[in-house]
Amino acid sequence: MPTNSNSIDMIARLIGFDTTSRNSNLELMAFVGDYLKDLGIESELVHNDEGTKANLYATLGPADKPGIALSGHTDVVPVDGQDWHSEPFQIIEKNGRLYGRGTSDMKSFIGVCLALAPEFLAREINTPLHFAFSYDEEIGCLGVRSLIDALAQRAVKPSAVIIGEPTQMKVVRAHKGKLSYRCKVSGFEAHSSLSHIGVNAVEAAAEAVSYLKSMARRHRDQGPFDSELVPPYTTVHTGTIHGGTALNIVPKACSFEFEFWHLPEDDPHALLDELRDHVAQHIEPEMHSTVPGTGFSFEPMSHIPGLSTDEDAEVVQLAKALTGQNTTAKVAFGTEAGLFQAGGMPAVVCGPGSIDQAHKPDEFIELDQINQCEVFLRRLFERCWQAGG
Ligand SMILES: [Zn+2]
Repeated sequence: MPTNSNSIDMIARLIGFDTTSRNSNLELMAFVGDYLKDLGIESELVHNDEGTKANLYATLGPADKPGIALSGHTDVVPVDGQDWHSEPFQIIEKNGRLYGRGTSDMKSFIGVCLALAPEFLAREINTPLHFAFSYDEEIGCLGVRSLIDALAQRAVKPSAVIIGEPTQMKVVRAHKGKLSYRCKVSGFEAHSSLSHIGVNAVEAAAEAVSYLKSMARRHRDQGPFDSELVPPYTTVHTGTIHGGTALNIVPKACSFEFEFWHLPEDDPHALLDELRDHVAQHIEPEMHSTVPGTGFSFEPMSHIPGLSTDEDAEVVQLAKALTGQNTTAKVAFGTEAGLFQAGGMPAVVCGPGSIDQAHKPDEFIELDQINQCEVFLRRLFERCWQAGG
């Protein structure tokens, strides 16, 4: 079946809203809400504290049955500083591809879900589908958490969640998790010629960063390993460091940010504890002996749990049947799937487009991917229509 022009029209509408994470997504959600309302579907919004952004949740079919959730984020990464050859928030169809910010990550999935909704509603529905669309995914999977909290408390919640992040319609049942932290080091200022009475925050921070690097090497060399993930081990990375004001002053402040991209079975908090223990035993004693009250403090920045769904889990079997694939995959990037899993809703990642095109200038999706997504959803519809399905 050729690609439904409704899908492309819907994707074009969604791309037209500049939902870069720093912006509100309420206009897009109002558009989606109105569209669903015209189909007779009520949707609910779960707002952020400021009321500037929202998740949208809508049920198609009987609300008293668990059903299957189709989930995606509505925000996109910025285009600032990127060299685009077309207007990023206006779709362009060229050479069998659609170009625009969010075409692969991940408005095409949402667009196809919405475009095919009337088809789904045209028959009697036995198993409901839920649309779960979030905000602020790109800045740490922040938005979806309140939606998952709300769903987790319901007597009836989805029994399976399909997150349509770009996997080229491969069934992804596991991905790494990420824990990131900011560390602030408080030293004691002194003239640089009197460094013995100061506590050098930059040097203390450097020792901690160096320890993080040793942890990174250990995981690289000794594992644990998961050969299906790239790279096949937990990584440790320090991304920023700021400290000191002038060469002739012993610096009193330094801060750095670091993260663990961990195998789903590795506990990132244990890794963090290892660093904290090292700091407490090997770095802070010398600082304290010079000036009490100096030392390290740690503040969490974000945590995206890893995803690890069993090969024989129902949601994996379902996604395999819908794609016609016998195999599953694991990916290195994080998604909202781990949060759904933690909320008691088994999840897989399976959506159109490639992560290779995500976040880049001239982001695109192959029309064939949209086509495959339609086939996938229509197979899902068949199952949901069937009695007892
Ligand atoms: Zn994404």
